[in-house]
Amino acid sequence: MARSYVREARRRGLGRRRERVREIVDRLSREHSDAQIALRFRSDLELLVSVMLSAQTTDTNVNRVTPTLFRKYRSPADYLAVPQEELEQDIYPTGFYRQKTKAIRGTMRMLLEEFDGEVPRRIEELVRLPGVARKTANVVAAELGDAQGIVVDTHVRRLAQRLGLTRNDDPVKIERDLMRIVPREHWGRFPHLLIWHGRRVCDARSPRCEDCVLEDLCPASRLAAAISSGASERAPAARASTPG
Ligand code: SF4
Repeated sequence: MARSYVREARRRGLGRRRERVREIVDRLSREHSDAQIALRFRSDLELLVSVMLSAQTTDTNVNRVTPTLFRKYRSPADYLAVPQEELEQDIYPTGFYRQKTKAIRGTMRMLLEEFDGEVPRRIEELVRLPGVARKTANVVAAELGDAQGIVVDTHVRRLAQRLGLTRNDDPVKIERDLMRIVPREHWGRFPHLLIWHGRRVCDARSPRCEDCVLEDLCPASRLAAAISSGASERAPAARASTPG
């Protein structure tokens, strides 16, 4: 599917990916000037814990739990000072509470033993923390002001594919493709723009192409497809059904 959108972009003469991506950033920055991380936190440690809790659940769900959680647990040592079951109870509503408790406690232990109780800023260090995968590390590094990669979640993946910015399905390969074409100063902001556009306009099942500021830049646009192919002409295989 992703491959066909890259081909379709070329067929329609939409321009080089590198140039298109600059325009995409400009337009989405105007359209979603409020795009930012939805998790609420007040310190590096709260950021790290929030992102760890957000696995397999919504940011809203995490935000419901963290105000109470962060009043009780203020330092890495606090997470280790209570019995495991108590922390499990405290994060229970975020789901996968046993695995998350294990990961958080392991991470707190490593922060104390190897990082003087501070949250490290380098991706190579962040991914050494138990339960912290590259996506979590990327989110944390970007929010700490030093994005060293590009976060690829389900929205970023879908939009990068629909916009013909990648031929790949694998998040690691998609990130690599995006890092080649997105200017470094936008690495932190770019995912937020795609995520918010994905939530507000480019829905997985029913994208609102008619309301989309990227419509003329997008090889997956349903409008352009309808105009160029007409009712009788065969549409590209990827657009025969709902994009995505
Ligand atoms: S034109 Fe349609 S498919 Fe393309 S980004 Fe906009 S909403 Fe998504």
